[in-house]
Amino acid sequence: MTQETISAHSWRPRRFMVIVGHPDDADFGPAGTASAWIDAGSQGWLVCCTSGDAGGEDPEANPLGLAQAREEEQRRAAQVVGYEGVTFLHQPDGNLVNDLPLREMLVREIRTFKPDAVLAGDPEVVVHRGGGINHTDHRAAAMAAVDAVYPAARNPMTFPWLHRQGLPAHRVRRLYLMWSNQPDVWIDVSATVDRKIEALRDHESQLHDPAAVFERVRARMAEQGAVIGVAAAESYRLVVLDADPAEVEESSEVQEALAADESAPGSTGQAG
Ligand SMILES: [Zn+2]
Repeated sequence: MTQETISAHSWRPRRFMVIVGHPDDADFGPAGTASAWIDAGSQGWLVCCTSGDAGGEDPEANPLGLAQAREEEQRRAAQVVGYEGVTFLHQPDGNLVNDLPLREMLVREIRTFKPDAVLAGDPEVVVHRGGGINHTDHRAAAMAAVDAVYPAARNPMTFPWLHRQGLPAHRVRRLYLMWSNQPDVWIDVSATVDRKIEALRDHESQLHDPAAVFERVRARMAEQGAVIGVAAAESYRLVVLDADPAEVEESSEVQEALAADESAPGSTGQAG
């Protein structure tokens, strides 16, 4: 397949959830896509597994103070993107583990917000193509998100007390895995590049040379955009778990129409 044959991915969820390890991951990650979807009418929710309490250079710094600052930064950035809200799960930065308590917390979030799609990291990436280690928290958050989506959130017998608390099983239909070494869809975010940069600007505690960071992020988005012939894009490895209800309806309508057509006189014969 040549690059010219790839077209922009146009499916859009009604509701989506972004699940990441740290405050700022969502803004370095899918903020362009999230902004574009929200502008088009989608509703989004952000879940940060940690509050970034180890994201500094000073071993004497108060981690709780840093966590509070980073939550505030993330809440401001989330408003720029337009999320309905943010949940912090307060797991330890640098020590995130994909264990059952984390899975239950994520299933609770998923069953509460009921997203059609979840955006998370690609849990299979340990070393990024082109270099760099995928942070242990990014890997743990990614695997936890995948495990929460399937099968836990959709299985009525998983965490049955959630069902009793008014949170029945919910089927997430799609996973969009960011920062993947094997992306297969590219979403046009030309209209929301500046929003992503504005959201990143809110993570002051993490930006030592903002101009250089923004330039790198813009260059990366332009590079992805070139794949589908637009100014800027974000890429994902897409996992479709269920067809959309509308698609099912449409295809059965088409089948009915075809069946009706076949039974119509003269439609299949050589007569005439
Ligand atoms: Zn991170």
